[in-house]
Amino acid sequence: MEKEPVVGTVREHLNRTIADHARLCQFSLMRRPNYYDQSGLDRMSERRSDAAWIERLLAAGETRIMPVWRARNFVVSGTAPRAAHLAAEVAATLVDGDGHLVFLGIKDGIAHFSVDLSHIENPAEVPALAGRGKFVELRSVGALLSRDEGSILAYARALAHWHRHHRFCGKCGAPTAMRESGHLRVCTDSACGAHHFPRTDPAVIMLVSRGDRALLGRKPEWVKDMYSALAGFVEPGESLEAAVAREVMEETGVVVSNVRYQSSQPWPFPASLMLGFYADAIS
Ligand SMILES: [Zn+2]
Repeated sequence: MEKEPVVGTVREHLNRTIADHARLCQFSLMRRPNYYDQSGLDRMSERRSDAAWIERLLAAGETRIMPVWRARNFVVSGTAPRAAHLAAEVAATLVDGDGHLVFLGIKDGIAHFSVDLSHIENPAEVPALAGRGKFVELRSVGALLSRDEGSILAYARALAHWHRHHRFCGKCGAPTAMRESGHLRVCTDSACGAHHFPRTDPAVIMLVSRGDRALLGRKPEWVKDMYSALAGFVEPGESLEAAVAREVMEETGVVVSNVRYQSSQPWPFPASLMLGFYADAIS
């Protein structure tokens, strides 16, 4: 019997590998994204530094500016709240010296930007904002918004927080200036010139179980009967798995093993990426 050519075998192996990979990718994409991970925006990161392109987007009539005021998002409230936005020419009349527009991305052909209006003392008294929406805490309305709008507001909130807390260089103390349509801040002291990129801090949330029982916790100030899976921040020099085990031990005294990653989502309260895990209680 003639031996199978090696090239054919390799090709078949590659084809099988590619098919397996495609199935795995399909499987991972089939999982429904978590709540604040569904903006549908194309971030167009390769065009952020193209000032002429950004100008053209801002000149387009349909472009949406999502305002943020002191960590609150602009929303039309009611039984079915929705994200409110401003036209670029209206937003341009409201920005202060450092309040440049931040490019978020493009969705369904419409450019989305955010703007921080925190310098305004009382937005309710600003005619350009009157009747267009109210500034509300995203956590109080997030679950009532459509997932794409909730995700876009979370993204805007996260960037506004980062800009407000990085107005000065952490290396030399000089003021920083916005670049790359809001995705970079650069130290204005030419002797320093440090670049500062938006930060997201890892936090873990974990469902610890044993048999058919799950380990939950609650804070004293929470409403009656409200419980949550345990959560906490990852510390420097620590793996995610170690953070899960340490937080569970610190909060409950329970030892865990078999820590398994589940999925993640942006968690801009104020600046986290929330990473979800399962773990087994062994004590
Ligand atoms: Zn500096």
